[in-house]
Amino acid sequence: MQKGNIGVTTENIFPVIKKFLYSDHEIFLREIVSNAVDATQKLKTLTSMGEFKGELGDLTIQVKLDKENGTLTISDRGVGLTDEEIEKYINQIAFSGANDFLEKYKNDANAIIGHFGLGFYSSFMVSKKVEIVTKSYKEDASAMKWSCDGSPEYTLEETTKEERGTDIILYIDDESKEFLDENRISSLLKKYCSFLPVPIAFGKKKEWKDGKEVETDEYNIINDPNPLWTRKPSELKDEDYKEFYRKLYPMSDEPLFWIHLNVDYPFNLTGILYFPRIKSNLDLTKNKIQLYSNQVYVTDSVEGIVPDFLTLLHGVIDSPDIPLNVSRSYLQSDSNVKKISSYITKKVADRLQAIFKNDRKQFEEKWDDLKIFINYGMLTQDDFYDKAKNFALLKDSDNKYYTFEEYQTLIKENQTDKDGTLIYLYSSNKEEQYSFIENATNKGYNVLIMDGQLDVALVSMLEQKFEKSRFTRVDSDTVDNLIVKEDRKKSDLEAIKEEALNVLFRSQLPAIEKVDFHVSAQALGETGAPIVITQSEYMRRMKEMANIQAGMSFYGEMPDMFNVVVNSDHRLIKEILLEEDQQCSSEIKPIQEEIDQLSRKREELKKAQEGKKEEEISTAEKDELTDIEKKQDELTQRKESLWSEYGSKNKVIRQLIDLALLQNNMLKGEALNNFIKRSIDLIPGEK
Ligand code: ADP
Repeated sequence: MQKGNIGVTTENIFPVIKKFLYSDHEIFLREIVSNAVDATQKLKTLTSMGEFKGELGDLTIQVKLDKENGTLTISDRGVGLTDEEIEKYINQIAFSGANDFLEKYKNDANAIIGHFGLGFYSSFMVSKKVEIVTKSYKEDASAMKWSCDGSPEYTLEETTKEERGTDIILYIDDESKEFLDENRISSLLKKYCSFLPVPIAFGKKKEWKDGKEVETDEYNIINDPNPLWTRKPSELKDEDYKEFYRKLYPMSDEPLFWIHLNVDYPFNLTGILYFPRIKSNLDLTKNKIQLYSNQVYVTDSVEGIVPDFLTLLHGVIDSPDIPLNVSRSYLQSDSNVKKISSYITKKVADRLQAIFKNDRKQFEEKWDDLKIFINYGMLTQDDFYDKAKNFALLKDSDNKYYTFEEYQTLIKENQTDKDGTLIYLYSSNKEEQYSFIENATNKGYNVLIMDGQLDVALVSMLEQKFEKSRFTRVDSDTVDNLIVKEDRKKSDLEAIKEEALNVLFRSQLPAIEKVDFHVSAQALGETGAPIVITQSEYMRRMKEMANIQAGMSFYGEMPDMFNVVVNSDHRLIKEILLEEDQQCSSEIKPIQEEIDQLSRKREELKKAQEGKKEEEISTAEKDELTDIEKKQDELTQRKESLWSEYGSKNKVIRQLIDLALLQNNMLKGEALNNFIKRSIDLIPGEK
């Protein structure tokens, strides 16, 4: 028997392995099983090169639990190891600068293991003793048994072993008993080994017989050695992709569609990306993509590795160029990984472009579900935007879909304002903004539906990307002012009548917290609505952006500002003014006359003071002016309170305001209740 010290420069490497690699203990299984896979693959390669002429036989890798002896054994029928190879590959491990490195990465087991090529030694994280029983495929090789109890000392001796290959026997230590639990091992195998390229059996299949579970002779194979992404797309049917998706995500709905990646230049990459069907925000989770390196599972936290927007997709990416055992921070800065990331973006964009081109109907049908992914990509990645702008769609209120270019052509003629700016009209809610949409379409405008989660941000971005264009929500002004084609037609009302309307309507506007109303009169035509409530695009958008962006909370705190536009052409408004004239003019007229008189006087005084310096104006002159202004204010207040008193009793005004509020979903609670009662009373019939 040979005894020796394992060739590490750091004497105490095992305590380090145990202590520092604590959090990631479970990966030992991946390491040991992947070694078994490698040994098996090597033997197959040797066979195909004619260097091994024996029988390959059954190459299934076996994972066995022995609870009584407290061991976990991984057996393969691969190349095996000769005594020299054990000496070379197991005993002599080169650690260069080990101490520095360990210090730096002590919290990242993957990094340490990867750096040292320490795969096999990770078994000591969970074992008090490890044995290798192995017989090389080489002729005349004798079977060897290597044993090590976790100190740098090992023993190596000849043994008897019938079959070619290697058994790695782990004597699980007391702190790691969990790895003797069948369910735990089963789920680890599922996580790390599901798609390894050699069949792996975890014990035997079980069946129910006479009321109890018994083992059958059949292997319990836990992996799919030929996963879908390794196969040729031309050989696969839709159903295959769907089935694979169900296997990966048993709880998810059928995907919208998928992209099969298959690249061998400038690097190797295969994979299948699925666009999931999203039912609600809750479904939108990142990190569903699984990363593999030669079918060995690496990670499913892919943030920073694949482009951000693709983290919303599902599926697998497999590339031998993705290093298996390195830290996440390393992965994120690795130039290969970066190249992969931008390549995937390009591929995904190309695929979407192709689907759009070949089957636009299907693409349109899926657009509503697809749009969140594409919009997110456009918002977060310029190179994706540059491609997606050719297939991203806009939907109008008739559910017709247009590309950006098509849409621009469609509205150019009719929706360019007097300054040559193209106005994109949109609605964020087809139901709530129904009347505004109708008014706009009746005027020959087209209205886009922008009701997606990302549309607020998208609108801002498109405004910057599109030349001389602006987005205006359909309820942000009266229909005539949405797209200003010539200078605005002023209401031909006398100033005093406009003032009256303003006060009359204000007298009945409800006080709503954090809502401000601004009343104005406009000539909207005899068939236009008597009152229209609009909200300015600018302020509303600032508030919307405040909700999605940090650092804009100032706007978030501002009240909502609504414009109440009274249509001076409408018969009901005309009637209100007429009645106001009859009821109030006897009192208002003299007040107004007085106000006008004061105004003239004030003008004269001002004129006299013109050109004079502050100190040249006498105190008496100043006082007179202040006096006039004070009187004017008093009179105006009196006038307004007269109107207000009259207005607050006017039932038509009340009803008109409520109708307008109702149309904007602003009539709620008690006010709504009162409105309904009042409206019922208006219905003629026997009381
Ligand atoms: P790596 O796999 O990264 O080379 P390991 O420490 O996991 O590092 O393994 C060291 C070497 O031991 C391997 O390169 C291989 O030559 C040998 N080895 C490990 N496991 C087996 C096995 N099951 N059969 C044959 N050789 C093995």
